[in-house]
Amino acid sequence: MSEKFDVIVIGAGPGGYVAAIRAAQLGLKTACVEKWVNDKGATVLGGTCLNVGCVPSKALLESTHKFHDTQHKNAVHGISADNVTMDVKKMVARKDKIVGNLTMGITGLFKANGVTTLAGMGKLLSGKKVEVTAADGTVTVYDAQNVILASGSLPVNIPPAPLTDGLILDNEGALNIDETPETLGVIGAGVIGLEMGSVWARLGTKVTVLEALDSFLAVADKDVAKEGAKLLKKQGLDIKLGSMVSGTEIVDGKVKVFYKDSKGEQEITVDKLIVAVGRRPQTQGLLADDCGVKLDERGFIEVDIQCKTAAAGVYAIGDSVRGPMLAHKASEEGVMVADIIVGHHAQMNYDVIPSIIYTHPEMAWVGKTEQELKEQGVKIKVGKFPFAASGRAMASNETDGFVKIIADEETDRVLGVHMVGAIASELISQGAIAMEFCSTAEDLQLMCFAHPTVSEAVHEAALAVDGHAIHIANRKKR
Ligand code: FAD
Ligand code: AMP
Repeated sequence: MSEKFDVIVIGAGPGGYVAAIRAAQLGLKTACVEKWVNDKGATVLGGTCLNVGCVPSKALLESTHKFHDTQHKNAVHGISADNVTMDVKKMVARKDKIVGNLTMGITGLFKANGVTTLAGMGKLLSGKKVEVTAADGTVTVYDAQNVILASGSLPVNIPPAPLTDGLILDNEGALNIDETPETLGVIGAGVIGLEMGSVWARLGTKVTVLEALDSFLAVADKDVAKEGAKLLKKQGLDIKLGSMVSGTEIVDGKVKVFYKDSKGEQEITVDKLIVAVGRRPQTQGLLADDCGVKLDERGFIEVDIQCKTAAAGVYAIGDSVRGPMLAHKASEEGVMVADIIVGHHAQMNYDVIPSIIYTHPEMAWVGKTEQELKEQGVKIKVGKFPFAASGRAMASNETDGFVKIIADEETDRVLGVHMVGAIASELISQGAIAMEFCSTAEDLQLMCFAHPTVSEAVHEAALAVDGHAIHIANRKKR
């Protein structure tokens, strides 16, 4: 007789491991299946986010940011340092150590919460049975009352740029480059492309980003995209828009990249090329033909607003379902599904999911953009406050960027918060909290923000919505 669980989660990324821990906290007998193994053959939890995504990329961004500041920005404070060097191998080893600690941490959390780890490849069979194939080929079938599919995503590969050992890399390979290339090409000016491009540009690599679309960061608010493009260009990132990569060739250990822009066929030669053209849902081998779960036309697992699939008692969350491919979105869906399973009222607010690009300065937003709202015919009022007018930002020598708040002209309700700034990733949660609590701009105006803080820019942007910011001239015409 196979073991029975109340909940089996397939996939231990930020969607799956969070769902498993929450389900166990709620008293459910829970198991989590994970196929990821490290180079020693041991199962590692944490998925893309902890192993090859959010965390390692931020570790590299932090190290290179410190290096860049020491070299170029600290002199203004009176700090001088000659012959600043970067030991790239040490930087990468530090990143690996953080990854190791965090993934081990999830193993510890599973033990502490009583979640059983099932090592191997999971497959959903009909009748909520889950088949687990271990690395040695042993197959075990488990019974579950509920199944949560959290199989995540994989990098998209494109035929013009097939991955080539050490030369043409996906986002995983890009995290393990262990010496500074002189030149680097990046295909795709999305979040991952810009973050990886920034890492190496800060170390002195000449970085060229090739982006097929004519507009930069089309998903972002136009002011954020404009400011971001200006600042990244100033940092030396050569972002070529309207440049569609059509082929690559390895010549003398370098990568020749062919692309087409408005002027015709072009080519560049780079030491390494990173392919960062997006990610696709990972569902291969996950679903038996008769399991009852459906995929949509783009290969995502089809779910409703509560993450329920077409098969009763089977849910799907995270990158393998519709919505933004973000770790916090996956985790919140995991919590929601566990709560729904035990009969709690639970729902996810898809309108308030913050997005962040961890360049320097960072770009972050939550809610609707100005262009979206205008297209929808919503009457809006906009307040903007530059960090150049913030005392604390001046003290930190971090005056690039701004906070922009968009409110409904009639109801005053905050509809979007957008920013570019050194610590935008931290500030954006203030926008998310305000929107989650259905704040008006006035609610934010009436709050007392501590001084001197960078957060005061959020307060001032809210005041600017009605022309009342104190530290900039913004009086509205009456
Ligand atoms: P995943 O994290 O992909 O986890 C899925 C897990 O399921 C994997 O461990 C996989 O091995 C396992 N699995 C799949 N199929 C099976 C099966 N059949 N049997 C057993 N196990 C299976 N997001 C952010 O929010 N912030 C960031 O800063 C950020 N930075 C990123 C940087 C990079 C370079 C990349 C690549 C991604 C980044 N992301 C970021 C995106 C984020 O990593 C994903 O949105 C998040 O990991 C999705 O979580 P998930 O649980 O759905 O899937
Ligand atoms: P994201 O999905 O945010 O990671 O962004 C990926 C980016 O890669 C998108 O902006 C795409 O337009 C871009 N892209 C996809 N294919 C190509 C290509 N062949 N050449 C250049 N850019 C591409």
